[in-house]
Amino acid sequence: MCLLCNAADKSRDHLFQDCSFSFDVWSLLAGRLRFQPLRSWEGTLTQMINLPRGKPLTLLSLLAWQAMIYWRMNETLGYTPIRFAQWT
Ligand SMILES: [Zn+2]
Repeated sequence: MCLLCNAADKSRDHLFQDCSFSFDVWSLLAGRLRFQPLRSWEGTLTQMINLPRGKPLTLLSLLAWQAMIYWRMNETLGYTPIRFAQWT
C-alpha cells in the first residue's frame, strides 16, 4: 500500500506519477520548469526524452524528475537520510 495516500497498491505507475501526493509535487515542479505534468510513467518518460537538448530548463527538468524518483524510492523503501546515516 502506498505510504503517502494509503489508497492504492505500490506500483511504478502509482508511486511515480499517479499518486495524488507525488503528482502535486511533480505539478509544482513542472509549473516552475514550464512543461505540462503527465499522470503516466510512459508519457513522462517520453516527455523527458523529447525535451529540447542543450537548454538549461531541460537539464533542470531532468534533475527534478530524477529527484522525484529518488524521493519516492526512498519513501517507498523506508530509506531516510537518518537511516542512511545510521548504516554508515
Ligand atoms: Zn499514493
